[in-house]
Amino acid sequence: MDQATIDALRATAVAPRNHLIDGRSVPASDGGTLEVLSPINGQRLTTTARGTAADMDRAVAAARAAFDDGRWAGQPPAARKAVLLKWADLIAANAPELAVLGVRDNGTEIAMALKAEPGSAAATIRYYAEALDKVYGEIAPTAGGVLGLIHKQPVGVVGAIIPWNFPLMIGAWKLGPALAMGNSVVLKPAETASLSLMRMAELALEAGLPPGVLNAVTGEGAVVGAALARSMDVDVLVFTGSGATGRRLLEYAAQSNLKRVYLELGGKSPNIVFADAPDLAQAAKVAAQGIFRNSGQVCVAGSRLLVEAAIHDDFVAEVAAAAAAMRVGDPLRLDTQIGAVNSETQLLQNLRFVETAQAEGGRVYAGGGRILQETGGYYMAPTIVTGVAPDAALAQREVFGPVLAVTPFETETEAVRIANATDYGLAGAVWTSGLGRAHRMVRAVRAGVVHVNTYGGADVTVPLGGVGQSGNGSDKSLHAIDKYINLKTAWIKL
Ligand code: NAD
Repeated sequence: MDQATIDALRATAVAPRNHLIDGRSVPASDGGTLEVLSPINGQRLTTTARGTAADMDRAVAAARAAFDDGRWAGQPPAARKAVLLKWADLIAANAPELAVLGVRDNGTEIAMALKAEPGSAAATIRYYAEALDKVYGEIAPTAGGVLGLIHKQPVGVVGAIIPWNFPLMIGAWKLGPALAMGNSVVLKPAETASLSLMRMAELALEAGLPPGVLNAVTGEGAVVGAALARSMDVDVLVFTGSGATGRRLLEYAAQSNLKRVYLELGGKSPNIVFADAPDLAQAAKVAAQGIFRNSGQVCVAGSRLLVEAAIHDDFVAEVAAAAAAMRVGDPLRLDTQIGAVNSETQLLQNLRFVETAQAEGGRVYAGGGRILQETGGYYMAPTIVTGVAPDAALAQREVFGPVLAVTPFETETEAVRIANATDYGLAGAVWTSGLGRAHRMVRAVRAGVVHVNTYGGADVTVPLGGVGQSGNGSDKSLHAIDKYINLKTAWIKL
């Protein structure tokens, strides 16, 4: 996509967005709306329906009815596959519109959004469409005289609550396997990034998904998200977002119908650089990208840089130089490498983290403040804080912003100890030329994914899931399918 196309799309008015329930566009039951502000300039973009608990109940009822009458689950696998493949094609065909709309809503730089949002969403939907007729049941190895069959059945109604950083990509991680397995879904997009996901849901209907199979309700998490999580008629809840919300969802499940809850939460991922890394210049560049792209609003961001003491000063200087070379600003420019922070609230929270880090003895080596305020938008300079103690807030708590905490280490053992000294366990990386050390570190670092001599980029074929307080279950890969099925045994006397 060229700059002229982006500029034309950014100038278009964005129509107010209603819920999508039972195949129809419906306003909130009390007529309420939420203002959508663009993080690019702080200006009003449009409104979305401010859902009520009654709206959510209606969406769940539509999903239940659609599941129970078999209008989707009862279709032959080949027919479901054809619809999902068509949906993927429509997402790909509408990629420019979806990407620009999403960036106007959430502020991710367009070059990244094009790949990570509609590009990856289409690939994910295609992957699960292709997988759905390759999921077989099993015959148990029983004694003679009986036959034990293990069926894999859809769970029924899936509730999916999505965050604002990559709504299409993360939405597709849930929708792909859930719909492929024949479930109905009720989607709850994030308040500050719902527009592109609502449009992607609409495209599913255009592709031929029957009404009621995919419903989407916008509004506040504490109202519609909570109503979804408390529903007695939702069988499985899948969530990506913060640990605080994840805890609430587990409580809501316990207070209602004990629905299964899968949580993909935050991280404080260590990027560990040894002096024997094969290419330190490349490691520094990737370290900067690994924390500063999308203004650090990436769950797997390498937000802690652990550097072997012998190379610490030179390496940090290289990371700072790489960060300084990244263009921060208007996320709708193709050459922008760091876009806007999603909201003013998030930006102010990022700045408070920097203040606390200084109070705890950290040194702001680069950045540290708000920039481009004259645009009205929410931008923060890529920030590097050195001398961060392993127990400091900046080493322990997820900022979800462009702030890198740097801590030196002396030995491999110490690197592992610091790396594992948080409640999180989502991602990490190790940079070394030692084959043995690379494998030892992959085993020792407590995380769902450990990169070696790279950071990020893992595709849909491999699982992404956290350990510890980074969550449970995994998105992506064939393993994700397990979340959306029930095993049922038929025990037959022969
Ligand atoms: P958040 O928890 O504030 O919101 C996520 C979603 O939950 C939103 O749709 C919100 O409306 C909803 N919600 C909020 N309160 C709710 C409630 N009481 N009941 C039900 N729903 C509620 O998180 P966020 O700020 O949007 O997202 C950022 C977080 O997501 C970060 O912690 C980040 O690390 C995490 N994340 C994790 C992954 C992963 O794969 N592990 C991927 C991306 C983001």
